[in-house]
Amino acid sequence: MESANIVIIGAGVVGLAVAAKVSESNEEVYVFEKNARHGQETSSHNSGVIHSGIHYPKNSLKAKLCVKGNTMMYELCEKYQIPFKRLGKLTVAIEEEEVNELDKLMRAGTENGVEGLKFLGEEAVRRLEPNVEVEKALLTPSTGILEPDELMNHFYARTRKNNAVLATETEVTSIRKTDGGYEVAGVSVGEKFSVTAKTVINCAGLFSDKVAAMVGLDVAKLGYLIYPCKGDYFRVAGKPLVKMLVYPVPKGPGLGIHLTPDLAGSIRLGPNAYYVDKIDYAVESGEKEFREDVTRFVPKVRDYEIHEDSSGIRPKLQGPKDGFRDFAIRHEADNGFFGLINLVGIESPGLTAAAAIGEHVAEIVENEVKR
Ligand SMILES: Cc1cc2nc3c(=O)[nH]c(=O)nc-3n(C[C@H](O)[C@H](O)[C@H](O)COP(=O)(O)OP(=O)(O)OC[C@H]3O[C@@H](n4cnc5c(N)ncnc54)[C@H](O)[C@@H]3O)c2cc1C
Repeated sequence: MESANIVIIGAGVVGLAVAAKVSESNEEVYVFEKNARHGQETSSHNSGVIHSGIHYPKNSLKAKLCVKGNTMMYELCEKYQIPFKRLGKLTVAIEEEEVNELDKLMRAGTENGVEGLKFLGEEAVRRLEPNVEVEKALLTPSTGILEPDELMNHFYARTRKNNAVLATETEVTSIRKTDGGYEVAGVSVGEKFSVTAKTVINCAGLFSDKVAAMVGLDVAKLGYLIYPCKGDYFRVAGKPLVKMLVYPVPKGPGLGIHLTPDLAGSIRLGPNAYYVDKIDYAVESGEKEFREDVTRFVPKVRDYEIHEDSSGIRPKLQGPKDGFRDFAIRHEADNGFFGLINLVGIESPGLTAAAAIGEHVAEIVENEVKR
């Protein structure tokens, strides 16, 4: 049986960011990825937005890692030429009663340390975005977009440079606690394999509850059950309707159907949000919902054709009847599994926070596991 120091399960943006960081100061780091390439699941099925941090309660991991991750992400993009644009975002109140929701976002953003927040009236909004017709808006200048594949390639290159190994087509099917750590086993390119590791880091995204259960943790009791929540996108044909990101106030389990320019300027609408029980990336929604929602604040969308684009699936801890749930990033020592670190429920803003999550997990390894 081969031995490793640290095994990371999952090579999405989070597993790769964690690998890039922990391999700076640890030898024998392995990343196991079930697909033929890294980043084929949630990390390549999202909006590519660098969020600011206005949507999360004060002191939550989501708030802290998003705000820190936002700064880190712009620094990374500038330093390593990862394509990005700092476009800014408008969150809009269409009706009078939605103005209260804008106040709440302003409060949360201020408490979280988001800089440059500003309310804009109808006229000021129209000057910035002539096709947006609303009562009031909250301007978030630090919101932007980036190219997720390029970001993942960057983390992967750093992982390789630090001599960590990414094994693709390698699915972990069991994890057993041993005297000195864990025996991680599964199937790699059609062959059974087994590796011992002192530390195991679970970054398995939509499957992170199943991976956590492999070791024998009661995932239902710990609140680690994933409720997959899908979001579809449509694309607007023709000349861009807006230059900035434009969001309604959030409602339901998503952020509401919004307009996001991509790096070429083309506009995507979405994602909407509905719970599913299987992982299937086919677009299931109809055009009507998207058109109606967006017409409320960008009436001109009526003159444009829109087409099915893509979808993504959020690994949510928040079930259909639940309120806010934070990221779960836990060293399971207190639950009897020293050296096992679970990352569960890493939905949005996981892309924005990836580098900050990498640092956070590396600190857990240094301060709790290696001590
Ligand atoms: C519709 C949508 C829009 C979003 N928009 C944004 C946004 O604009 N900005 C933002 O910050 N965040 C956004 N997010 C969130 C962001 O995309 C995620 O937080 C992030 O991609 C999660 O990365 P991950 O590495 O944890 O998961 P994943 O990318 O899903 O990676 C997990 C990996 O683990 C592998 N794996 C699973 N089980 C095993 C196993 N047993 N053995 C080996 N490998 C395994 C999988 O194959 C996968 O590659 C969005 C999410 C969705 C769904």
